[in-house]
Amino acid sequence: MRAALFYGRRDLRLADVPEPEPGAGELKLRVRYNGICGSDLLEYYDGPVTTRNTPHPLTGVTNPVIMGHELCGEVVAVGAGVEDIAPGTLVAVEPVETCGECLYCGLGQYNHCPKLAIQGYNRAGGLAEYTVVKRRMAHPLPAGVTALQGALIEPLAIAWHTVNRCAVSAGQLVAIHGAGPIGAGAFLTLKSRGVQAVVVDPSPARRAALTRLGARVVLDPTACDVVAAIRDLTGGRGAHASIDAAGGAKAFAAMLHGTRVDGTAVVVAIHHEPVMIAPFDLLMPEVHLTGVALSVNAFPAVIAEMARGSYPLEGWVETIPFDGVIEQGIERLRRQQGMKIVVDVAGSCGPPH
Ligand SMILES: [Zn+2]
Ligand SMILES: [Zn+2]
Repeated sequence: MRAALFYGRRDLRLADVPEPEPGAGELKLRVRYNGICGSDLLEYYDGPVTTRNTPHPLTGVTNPVIMGHELCGEVVAVGAGVEDIAPGTLVAVEPVETCGECLYCGLGQYNHCPKLAIQGYNRAGGLAEYTVVKRRMAHPLPAGVTALQGALIEPLAIAWHTVNRCAVSAGQLVAIHGAGPIGAGAFLTLKSRGVQAVVVDPSPARRAALTRLGARVVLDPTACDVVAAIRDLTGGRGAHASIDAAGGAKAFAAMLHGTRVDGTAVVVAIHHEPVMIAPFDLLMPEVHLTGVALSVNAFPAVIAEMARGSYPLEGWVETIPFDGVIEQGIERLRRQQGMKIVVDVAGSCGPPH
């Protein structure tokens, strides 16, 4: 089968590899779509970051590894002991394998499992014609949710967890710094909950995409004082919560300073450099500064929200063929072109065999 293998920095190879077969408790999927994520760019240009050149403690996987962790596939075979899911079922994959034995796994905070392995980095991922996942990683999609929508569930689950971290309710206001896929997903999630949003991004294309998705207040941080604008919109108080989905010192500072007293500031973006925080900026406004680690227990809720129509894909999600994963995917995203780029794995690999 065809697969995209990560060997090391700037070394992703399309190659033919043997098809995997499901072990006990596992499913074999024919991958339909796999999205490309900011963390894939980090791995490609600056890695190894999440992949390993020594065996992963849970999976034993080492580079080269098949990349891809935002995937939707169709079950084509089930391993021993799997009785509650049948071939033909379309599933979104929650790309984490956990130990199931530690304190955090026991508490249901499996996203903090110290042995956590991420599919696409620490076990073979979705940029391949076929992949194998543990049964508990697979979330069946209801009728009416398409395979392309299914590939968006993972990044939307991160956005969902980010919005939960904001701890806001209907009628309140959240400032979203960064209108990439996570910012867009956070916006749509807030909208579905009746929470207002101010979206901030320097890219005209991204601002236009968010406007088309229904954002009423969209700000260009290169053209205005974002913090002053957010305060103007909130009677001088600032947003109830703010999200840094951009990365970079300016967005981080705007997040912190645009949040009201006792509000919440949530970091979800990958930062390439450390940021400075003046402790005074935390102690006087008593802002709650936090972050998100992947997502936890979010997939079923996000799938249900997708089925309700809360996540239109028009205008911000595009598909590319498997052959284009580097040039049309990773390299374009690096140039800030496109928003969510999803590889049409099955479409470009031909009919199943
Ligand atoms: Zn991702
Ligand atoms: Zn664990």
